[in-house]
Amino acid sequence: MRRRDRQLGMGRDITRRDFLSGVNIAVTGSLLATPLAQALAALDGSSGEHSAQMQPGYYPPTRDGLRGSHPGSFEVAHQMRDGVRFDNPADSTDTGEQYDLVVVGGGISGLAAAHFFQKEVGPDARILIVENHDDFGGHAKRNEFHSGGRMLVDLGGTEYIEAPWSFPNAAKTLLQDMGIDVSLARKVFDHDLYSSLKMRSGIFFDEATFGENRLVAGDPGIRHAEQQTAYVTLPAELENGIGDREAVSAFLERTPLSNGARDEILQLFCGDREYLTAYSDEEKLAVLKSISYMEFLSGIVGASQEVLDFFWMWRGSYMGNGLDLTPATAALRYGLPGSAGLGLDVQSQRSPEWQQHSYKEDLHFPDGNASVARMLVRRLIPEVAPGNSMHDIISAKFDYARLDRKDSPVRLRLNATAVHVRHLGDPATAKQVEVTYVQDGNARRVRSRYCVMACYNSVIPYICPEIPDGQRTALGKSIRMPLVSTNVLVSNWKSFHKLGIFSAYCPGSYFSDIRLTYPLQFADYSSARTPEEPITIKMYRIPLSGEGHAAEQFRAGRYELLGTSFEKFERNIRQQLGAMLAEGGFDPARDIEAITVNRWPHGYALGYDHENDQMSYWSEDWTEDQKHWLKGRQRIGRIAIANSDAGARAMTEAAIEEGFRATRELLNES
Ligand SMILES: Cc1cc2nc3c(=O)[nH]c(=O)nc-3n(C[C@H](O)[C@H](O)[C@H](O)COP(=O)(O)OP(=O)(O)OC[C@H]3O[C@@H](n4cnc5c(N)ncnc54)[C@H](O)[C@@H]3O)c2cc1C
Repeated sequence: MRRRDRQLGMGRDITRRDFLSGVNIAVTGSLLATPLAQALAALDGSSGEHSAQMQPGYYPPTRDGLRGSHPGSFEVAHQMRDGVRFDNPADSTDTGEQYDLVVVGGGISGLAAAHFFQKEVGPDARILIVENHDDFGGHAKRNEFHSGGRMLVDLGGTEYIEAPWSFPNAAKTLLQDMGIDVSLARKVFDHDLYSSLKMRSGIFFDEATFGENRLVAGDPGIRHAEQQTAYVTLPAELENGIGDREAVSAFLERTPLSNGARDEILQLFCGDREYLTAYSDEEKLAVLKSISYMEFLSGIVGASQEVLDFFWMWRGSYMGNGLDLTPATAALRYGLPGSAGLGLDVQSQRSPEWQQHSYKEDLHFPDGNASVARMLVRRLIPEVAPGNSMHDIISAKFDYARLDRKDSPVRLRLNATAVHVRHLGDPATAKQVEVTYVQDGNARRVRSRYCVMACYNSVIPYICPEIPDGQRTALGKSIRMPLVSTNVLVSNWKSFHKLGIFSAYCPGSYFSDIRLTYPLQFADYSSARTPEEPITIKMYRIPLSGEGHAAEQFRAGRYELLGTSFEKFERNIRQQLGAMLAEGGFDPARDIEAITVNRWPHGYALGYDHENDQMSYWSEDWTEDQKHWLKGRQRIGRIAIANSDAGARAMTEAAIEEGFRATRELLNES
């Protein structure tokens, strides 16, 4: 091992689940008894007859290393993408199982569909959920760590319930059904903890981009905190600096930015320069809607490359992309500078409710919306975990061996990829749907009265051959943004405390956003309160180049994620934390206890116009034709389509709403 790697602690004995590496595994021909199937069976301890999830000790939340879309979860689907079909019944075994509903996809949307179906049909409704990952929840995934006899949980994907007051009816109802009291948002989140320890946001400038490694913490005293989001990653001076020339200037002087770049940034925040002066407000808004914030900076402001480098990942973990893909109007609304020079009140473009919204009304669980998924599963299969409220869900120990029991009306089958879904007969009149899935290398068939496809739109055409051509094309247009959400367990956070930061925006670095876990307190769980305690650090990577069409960037980002080994992620984590926190006494070799990298190659859902390279959230005035997801989600006989792609919105409430719509479509037809 190289000396540098040793110093970083690359040889330290933390668990590494990288057996199959991050590289896309090529699978050809029948999956039965292929080396991949054997490898997966060995990995999961499957005998082939009993699935991995039935084995004692099966508890995926504690797995670390490469998670999210983990090795073993996506290979079968990619095999279909590459042309392999599973439509010959001779290649699969009929299990003889008969259901009222089969749901493909165990994310929030699929679980919500199962919940609404059961609510409508009754507790005896027989439901099977097949999920290709080794855990349920989709993006809403739990990462669980144990250190010094203590359990620490963090979110692997979905963060929180944002603006619950804005949830549509079905989503509101589901939260109520689960007993989720959103009014507790302010109570469970200790908004004073980090500030009481004089910890703030900061910016980390890295040597490769800015010439030296330097962490610049903001001054104490967050102003206008109500307007900020929980993703705060910027010093208050910049977030709220518009007009406060002295504060912004003082902050910039501590950065390694050149004098020219400092002047440009100061001018943007507090200067008197005006932009688009010859335009009316309406015309200005029309221009800003049609360009990205980076285009605003480069084309209208005339910013230098250094300034563009400084800004481009601002709010990356929230938006899921760089500012080259964020509309200028949205970026200005999220606090990026420029509105003053434009003479525009961009906030007034939002509804009065959103103008009033405070991030303190967002409800956080320590494992993010994995708690929602866990509550749904516990409601559907009560014997899987004790308890019955939002207050006991965090510590509730789930017995995965009870997820897929013959005697339970609802079954959840993990590590199972649906590969073929068809009606037994003419879709217009058939009474049955047949669903074939591959689990542990074996293809099996079940029958059902109905099926909800709560997976990704892009995969549905490969699974459902009955889908008409036009709809197939529409489904294929859905894309999702790739991103990486990492949790690093450290033995303490004294270095953060000493440096006076709890989070940092890192323009130019491998991970663009870093923060300590949210300070949360529930009846059965509390996150770390003092810097001496172990804690999880969240690190986000947006794997986009910033160049070219959005769809191309997303595709390249997906490949990057699947082709990056855990070792590379680990080295980058150790290097970045080491460089950023060195002056606080952080030693990556000593302080890091575990790493979980959640890759989400199919992350945020959105609508995309391939002809104009436009993303749906750029514009509220898309024509019905442009909204390809409306055509894509049409019911085909007894098969309905849920999942957040069907609403082209990467939000929990959209996933729930689509699950509700899909079950309604099926039940209204029967
Ligand atoms: C990092 C991250 C952070 C986020 N933060 C927030 C947040 O703070 N608040 C918020 O509201 N939303 C957030 N979102 C968005 C939110 O998580 C999603 O909108 C929502 O959870 C999507 O649910 P879904 O069921 O539609 O899709 P998914 O969660 O993707 O679930 C679909 C499931 O179907 C499975 N599947 C696919 N194909 C098959 C197949 N052939 N057979 C079997 N299974 C299959 C997939 O593997 C997946 O598990 C976040 C998303 C990400 C990625």
